Amino acid sequence: MPFSPEEADAIRSALLADEPSDVCPRCGTILETSAPIAGGGSMAPIWELVCPPCNRVMIAGQMLDSLLDGIRPRKATPTDRAHARALPDEYLQLAGSHARRALMLVERHWPDASNHNRRELAQVLVLLLAPLTEGSQEIERLRAESEQVVVQWIERRP
Ligand SMILES: [Zn+2]
Repeated sequence: MPFSPEEADAIRSALLADEPSDVCPRCGTILETSAPIAGGGSMAPIWELVCPPCNRVMIAGQMLDSLLDGIRPRKATPTDRAHARALPDEYLQLAGSHARRALMLVERHWPDASNHNRRELAQVLVLLLAPLTEGSQEIERLRAESEQVVVQWIERRP
């Protein structure tokens, strides 16, 4: 059963709050993030955020769609793509919360994006890259998915 729109909004806001959290707004359980359930090729990956006790699910791809609205139109350059592919490796070298690391990387590589847009990309990167710190061995796949996410973030038209 999906989270209500209000609950989904609460989850999105909490992911990048000053004290970031990814807990269920119904019961406070830490949400589980599925492996990407779709995506690949030209599609950005899609995840599920799950609260097992409440049996509630949020499709993070819906989040991606709304996050990517209103982005300035331009083409991703080879430099953008190279920076994007390096994100998983750089993420592992940083300390701090997932949100802080993601924001730091976006500010490092795309400082000209608006603060609002940088936070949007950082929210997606938190979902994509957080499993790395739990010992995920899938860094090569994550390099490719980071590139897809960044290219969509840059090229998506309002
Ligand atoms: Zn719950």
